[in-house]
Amino acid sequence: MSSTENHPIANNFIRHIIADDFASNKHNGKVATRFPPEPNGYLHIGHAKSICLNFGLAIENNGSCNLRFDDTNPEKESVEFMQSIETDVAWLGFKWSDKYHASDYFEQLYNYAIQLINQGDAYVDDLSPEQIRQYRGTLTEPGKESPNRNRPIAESLDLFARMRAGEFADGAYILRAKIDMASPNINMRDPTIYRIKRAHHYRTGDSWCIYPMYDYTHCISDALEGITHSICTLEFEDHRPLYDWVLDKLQTPCHPQQIEFARLQLEYTIVSKRKLAQLVNEKHVNGWDDPRMPTLAGLRRAGVTPAAIRDFCERIGVTKQNSWIEMAVLENCIREDLNENALRAMAVLKPLRVVIENYPEDQVEQLQVSNHPQKPELGSRTIAFAKVILIEEDDFALVPPPKFKRLIEGGEVRLRGSYVIKCHQVICDEAGKVVELRCSYDPATLGKNPEGRKVSGVIHWVSEQHSIPAELRLYDRLFCQPNPDTLENFLDAINPNSLEILNGSRVEASLANAKAGTGYQFERTGYFCVDYDSSAEKLIFNRTVTLRDTWAK
Ligand code: ATP
Ligand code: MG
Repeated sequence: MSSTENHPIANNFIRHIIADDFASNKHNGKVATRFPPEPNGYLHIGHAKSICLNFGLAIENNGSCNLRFDDTNPEKESVEFMQSIETDVAWLGFKWSDKYHASDYFEQLYNYAIQLINQGDAYVDDLSPEQIRQYRGTLTEPGKESPNRNRPIAESLDLFARMRAGEFADGAYILRAKIDMASPNINMRDPTIYRIKRAHHYRTGDSWCIYPMYDYTHCISDALEGITHSICTLEFEDHRPLYDWVLDKLQTPCHPQQIEFARLQLEYTIVSKRKLAQLVNEKHVNGWDDPRMPTLAGLRRAGVTPAAIRDFCERIGVTKQNSWIEMAVLENCIREDLNENALRAMAVLKPLRVVIENYPEDQVEQLQVSNHPQKPELGSRTIAFAKVILIEEDDFALVPPPKFKRLIEGGEVRLRGSYVIKCHQVICDEAGKVVELRCSYDPATLGKNPEGRKVSGVIHWVSEQHSIPAELRLYDRLFCQPNPDTLENFLDAINPNSLEILNGSRVEASLANAKAGTGYQFERTGYFCVDYDSSAEKLIFNRTVTLRDTWAK
């Protein structure tokens, strides 16, 4: 199998378009793309698909890719969101060629609007929003022309200047493109291109009280930046005629080609900034970077690496068909990456005390263990073995289920990287809960089974005295239904068990100085990452993902 067959993105339809454009020299052999987020929220995994696509095409064609903030809705936009977007794009591993803001073009956009009015291609209207809706018509009925449609050019010019000057109340007037009220495409029925809105803009402050609409802004911004391929999601297909109309009317120096692809829809989560903002604002999660969020900030905090996300984006490919991607696809990319790269460590989530009766009271052995069984280059570390150790509550059973390979009364088990122990006595509290095991160890079993001896079960452990306490946050999927977005109220599908906090966990001493953001495989339990709030006084680990897919039926 060739590498392109492994990675559907390598052969996507957009690549074919670009190859054809090279062949016909359509854009003078140039590829210039852009990633155009609106700074009204944090980037999510869906944006990652668009980022990998736009930056990826630029990289492989020796072209350029700009980061452009589509900031024409001042009420919802902020510097915090803008900065988070820059952080996340860079974290994903991409460098923008230039960084722009649609607000950089406000003056040019205004002048282009005047040009449209002068050409008779735009007019100022004063219909109420309700009337505009009525006049627009429906999918089956043509629209009706506004009585202001044929307002003299000079009058529109005068009104537009006064709109800018702040003479009118919000919503009193709009500027509309004069296209075709009978068009079967509603987007072409004299769409609004400017509105009056007194809102403080995070970059331009109060210098404007009129703001251009997205469709009008986007195509001109693309043209001003010399974009060749303007890649967007499928819902903009019906807007393409408007994109082209504006650029044809204005005869901008270049006319980018709009290409639509299917947006990422991922099961068991939400990829809509509006709904993600609701989760944050209503405190269903602890902020945009909550590890359960599908935001890049959340994934990062959970311990997902940029490489895993890029791999995911390659695997899902780029098509024109909307489809749902299973969460397991993302989780498997994360597992494969961490399995390959994360250091191993031992942590006991829910400790059970084990006293090794025949082990000398004050003896401590420093056992050498590998940091990664398949990667000797990642070295090894020592972990302390002593008379009292802690094992996982679940690794002992008074009444073992069938095929139980771990420790039982009278049974033997191997401690990973250490000795075989045998359980002689079980101590329970008054309620019958097992609180301590009395065991013995076999000194002949360090690191290997002696001839003819077979001990199949291997469990993890830490020394009671030498291990350190840690808080473990066990994150799970945020939603317990695959398509929360299709429900009337997506909040109904929130998984009530998406976070379990363990406070009694113990981790091996080598993790005392683990740095925030470092990922580990806690042997036999899952992949974990040091949280940003972790400190030497209080270690905190977030579970990135379980070792195996526990959601699979
Ligand atoms: P949302 O619905 O989450 O607000 P959006 O499209 O309004 O998304 P933008 O900030 O405008 O958010 O998106 C920036 C770019 O990312 C756009 O080009 C958009 O097409 C793309 N994008 C957004 N969501 C997805 C997705 N789920 N899959 C692929 N691309 C996406
Ligand atoms: Mg948008």
